[in-house]
Amino acid sequence: MSEKLLSYEDAAALVTQRAAKLASRKLRTEQVALHKAAGRVLARALKADSDQPAFDRSTRDGYACRAAEMNAYSSLRVQGSSRAGDVPAGPLVEGAVWEIMTGAPVPAGADAVVMFEHVKAGKKGVRLLVPRLLTAGENIVPRGAQAKKGDELLPAGTALTWAQIALAASCGKAKLKVYARPRVAILTTGDEVVSVEARPAPGQIRNSNAPMLAAMVEQAGGEPWVLPTASDNQKALLRALRQARKADLVLVTGGVSAGHFDLVEPALKQLGARFPFTGVRIQPGKPTVFAELPRSKGKKHGETPCFGLPGNPVSSAVTFLLFAAPVLAALCGCAVTGPRFALARLGAGPQRTPKSALTRFLPGLCNFEMKEPTVGFVPWQGSGDLAALARSNCFVVLPPEGEPPQEGALVRILIP
Ligand code: AMP
Ligand code: MG
Repeated sequence: MSEKLLSYEDAAALVTQRAAKLASRKLRTEQVALHKAAGRVLARALKADSDQPAFDRSTRDGYACRAAEMNAYSSLRVQGSSRAGDVPAGPLVEGAVWEIMTGAPVPAGADAVVMFEHVKAGKKGVRLLVPRLLTAGENIVPRGAQAKKGDELLPAGTALTWAQIALAASCGKAKLKVYARPRVAILTTGDEVVSVEARPAPGQIRNSNAPMLAAMVEQAGGEPWVLPTASDNQKALLRALRQARKADLVLVTGGVSAGHFDLVEPALKQLGARFPFTGVRIQPGKPTVFAELPRSKGKKHGETPCFGLPGNPVSSAVTFLLFAAPVLAALCGCAVTGPRFALARLGAGPQRTPKSALTRFLPGLCNFEMKEPTVGFVPWQGSGDLAALARSNCFVVLPPEGEPPQEGALVRILIP
């Protein structure tokens, strides 16, 4: 049933466009404690509550001084001493220096800080070591240089990780207003799929997609809502989808290929879904379906974005990253929503890349080395190979119709 089969680029562009539309909707917000804010998305811009730094701040242990006096290599007496936490002192008189510790306010009159290691301190005072020279401003961050009071430091839509949390802390924000986590229904399908606890009978397979996608959703800022696995019949699928569409996003796995029991697309159609695409020229993941599913009969309550992901675990993972994750990011209120790509050098090792008409995303292992990230293909037995998936840390992207890349070629990688 792949009547709307798009190239990867066209499918990605369509998803980006739909994600932008979703991002413009009004999202629910809530307050969270700062220490619970990692992975959440700012719903209000973060503004500086004071100048940063709030005073001229020394970045070194040493002596606050006038650079011009220091550069004359005369001995200058020590007038006073300040440590971090002291109130701003001074003024520094002419012909003197002021002992100062990292983080302390620079006394008025000083225009530089010379490091302890760069002077000779004796009975007559402190003298700069020849041939060093000091420039005005050295080792001082002036008040407000990082931000002025009231400056916007982070816009709404910023995903919060440790760096943003530290910044919010420096602005006195013990709580932050963030967007509510979107609820993501995860509906696995397949008569052969049994629970993690079960011992699979011959021909059965444990449900690895539900826990995998739940973890991916959680990592992407959503709240997973795992539904019971639906069996491969129209009635069961309709019942499950009617429940799932109450979520903010629906992920269905399995049942989207061309097999006799691939009934997800017809079920979505029966519920009035529209299909931006019903297949993408990628491997793995060709049968991926993107649907807009009316939230209720009669379309009064809007539509829920829905992805039908192929059941094979590697296909589910890749298509989640490529298509579902950008939509989820938009629902999270994130300003940046696209998948992440980088370039890496193809290393030695098995190359398993005959020419193909599809854009391929093959499990890769990148060393992310400083000198030059090098990636290799992880040998795999196709898109059901969970062991290969778990040994990989990226996907090597091979454009359609291209010659197989040689060792040493620069290749694109998708970073999960
Ligand atoms: P399908 O997309 O339904 O044709 O399924 C493709 C392959 O993925 C089949 O071998 C299924 O048994 C397998 N599969 C489907 N759903 C899951 C699941 N939830 N966990 C693990 N494997 C699955
Ligand atoms: Mg199936």
